[in-house]
Amino acid sequence: MPLVRYRKVVILGYRSVGKTSLAHQFVEGEFLEGYDPTVENTYSKIVTLGKDEFHLQLVDTAGQDEYSILPYSFIIGVHGYVLVYSVTSLHSFQVIESLYQKLHEGHGKTRYVALGDKDIVLPVVLVGNKADLSPDREVQAVEGKKLAESWGATFMESSARENQVLSLKIRKAVGVALTQGIFIKII
Ligand code: GDP
Repeated sequence: MPLVRYRKVVILGYRSVGKTSLAHQFVEGEFLEGYDPTVENTYSKIVTLGKDEFHLQLVDTAGQDEYSILPYSFIIGVHGYVLVYSVTSLHSFQVIESLYQKLHEGHGKTRYVALGDKDIVLPVVLVGNKADLSPDREVQAVEGKKLAESWGATFMESSARENQVLSLKIRKAVGVALTQGIFIKII
C-alpha cells in the first residue's frame, strides 16, 4: 500500500506578482489570462512521488504587504511556503523580506518550545516570477539568490506565462518540498 500524506503549502506575496497564475499553472498546467484573483482560494491536487501519494492543499492567498498581519491559518498546520515576488517590482521583493520575518516569528514561538531547537529552517521556496519580462527588471537574480541563501531556502526564477521550462522547475520544487516534511529545508 502506498503511503498517503497530507501537505498544506501556502503561497504568499505582494499583489499582482503572479501567485494565482503560478498556482493555476501548477494545478492545471496552463496559464490563465485575465483571471481576477482577489480572494483566497485553495486548490487540491494529488501528487505522486515515487511510491508515495501526497494530498496537497495549495493555498493561494489574496496578497499581502509589509503591514499585513498574517492569520493563524497561515502558520498552524502549514508544511511549507512559496514566497513570490515579481522581478519587475523591487517593492514586491521588499515585501517578501518582511513577510519572511513575520513567518519566522510566528513559527519560532511554537517550534522553539516544541523542539528546543534554535536553528529551525522554515520550509520556503523563494520565487522571482515574471522572468519573461526581463527588460523591465528591478530585481536581479543574484539578489533573490542571496536572500534565499541567507534563509537557507531554495531560490528560483519562474514565469507563470512560459509553462514549458520555468514552471516545470516550480513543480519540481513544490514536489520536493512535499517529500521533505515540515522541519527540513527544501532543496
Ligand atoms: P497575484 O495577484 O499575485 O495572484 O497575480 P496574478 O496571478 O493575478 O497575476 C497578475 C498579473 O500578472 C496578471 O495579469 C497575469 O496575467 C500576469 N502574470 C502573472 N505571472 C506572469 C508571468 O510569469 N509573466 C508575465 N508576463 N505576466 C504574468
